[in-house]
Amino acid sequence: MNSVLPAATDDAPATAGADSGVASNLSFAQLPLAPATLVNLQQLGYLQMTPIQAASLPLALAGRDLIAQAKTGSGKTAAFALSLLAKLNPRRFAVQALVLCPTRELADQVAQEIRRLARGEDNIKVLTLCGGSTMRPQMSSLEHGAHVVVGTPGRIMDHLQRGSLDLAALNTLVLDEADRMLDMGFFDDIVVVAKACPKERQTLLFSATYPEGIAKLSRQFLRQPQQISLLEQHEASKIRQRFYEVERDQRLAAVALLLKHYRPVSTLAFCNTRQQCRDLLQLLRAEGFVALALHGELEQRERDQVLVQFANRSCSVLVATDVAARGLDIDQLEAVINVDVTPDTEVHVHRIGRTGRVDQAGWAFSLVSGSQMARVDNIEKELGHEIEWHSLSELQAAPGKPLPPPMVTLLILGGRKEKIRAGDVLGALTGEAGFSKEQIGKINVTDTSTYVAVARSIARDALRKLSAGTIKGKKVRVHLLQDKAG
Ligand code: ADP
Ligand code: MG
Repeated sequence: MNSVLPAATDDAPATAGADSGVASNLSFAQLPLAPATLVNLQQLGYLQMTPIQAASLPLALAGRDLIAQAKTGSGKTAAFALSLLAKLNPRRFAVQALVLCPTRELADQVAQEIRRLARGEDNIKVLTLCGGSTMRPQMSSLEHGAHVVVGTPGRIMDHLQRGSLDLAALNTLVLDEADRMLDMGFFDDIVVVAKACPKERQTLLFSATYPEGIAKLSRQFLRQPQQISLLEQHEASKIRQRFYEVERDQRLAAVALLLKHYRPVSTLAFCNTRQQCRDLLQLLRAEGFVALALHGELEQRERDQVLVQFANRSCSVLVATDVAARGLDIDQLEAVINVDVTPDTEVHVHRIGRTGRVDQAGWAFSLVSGSQMARVDNIEKELGHEIEWHSLSELQAAPGKPLPPPMVTLLILGGRKEKIRAGDVLGALTGEAGFSKEQIGKINVTDTSTYVAVARSIARDALRKLSAGTIKGKKVRVHLLQDKAG
């Protein structure tokens, strides 16, 4: 079998641009994967490997330790998930793979992706273990047995210390978003967890960036790792970057002006501080935008609700700090706005890489004050070509109120614990209630709640009919989730 790898060696990072280095054959079929897995990949619409998958899967499936670096949204999850699933023995009821993630949201996303990818095989149990939930139910789930555990380092460590998690049968350890875990101060916890894993195992480390701490981690816990690094190279045609010079006191108003001029359906606005997040949120709401903020002070439940509403298109603008937004997988993002240019070029490239995914074009706007010009010089150097300067005076606010988001979120009080599944909710809305499939958007089921996005035009009607009807033969309580601007 021919390898599609960019030349990777043990000591020097292999580099491959998004469209260079990697051979043209990106078919999953050339990998040693079970036929059922290949069929499932087809059904999921995974027709070709992404570059990071093409570079890492052959090595990971061959059992090598890996340090893999590629930007957010490049498909890293499947790169490790397919590998750990391939080694799994479904008939053995023991934890065979452990994935460490920095936050609960990311753990949930990863667990979901693993479950999707495991659909081809019989009954693989994937369990998430994160802080913010009570220990007891997690302990009883563990007693029932799980094949794969996905969790945050602190909570996994708690379970190890209480003896409720046994890693004796583990054969794969994954450190996902390793850079972010280090940022969050998890180094020592990761050390404890890694030491509790059997020595004979495969360790896969995935990261969007490559700070110093990663090398330290990998020296300690990886065995002759192969290093794969896909340079950040966004196709110029997909992300249209524009820079605007602003006076300090114009900055927030300029964000509103950009939104009114370009009218993107979904925008992620990056602020450098929490205070700036708060100020921007206030201004946008005053201007009639449906906007939400994501920052470190939110409780877990509030964070969940913000993310769900943004991802299902019932919120137009998400205002966030880098730390709060890193690693989140949001598709269909039309624009990214750098409310302040970040001093870190790598962070800049990472921020704008959120838009222009797969086959959609995206905007990336940056607001720059006089004192931040040096930062832009660095970005320009990194890009290797001149950047486009534009003037705020070119922008024209469309008249009237800003476009409302296309969807509205309904919150059903009841979730997995009540055995509610997405299909039940879809059935209730398209069955007796008489709505069409096109009017229903994403449905997210959590342990205790269900969020369903419906077209704005049917929101009240859908709320009324769901409240009057039943799901799984039971009455449910339903609310309209609306922020203060709505
Ligand atoms: P990362 O971890 O690198 O940020 P993810 O693993 O979250 O990226 O993947 C980003 C998105 O791409 C997900 O929605 C995932 O379902 C999708 N994806 C991953 N691999 C493929 C593929 N080979 N073909 C199509 N879509 C894919
Ligand atoms: Mg990821």
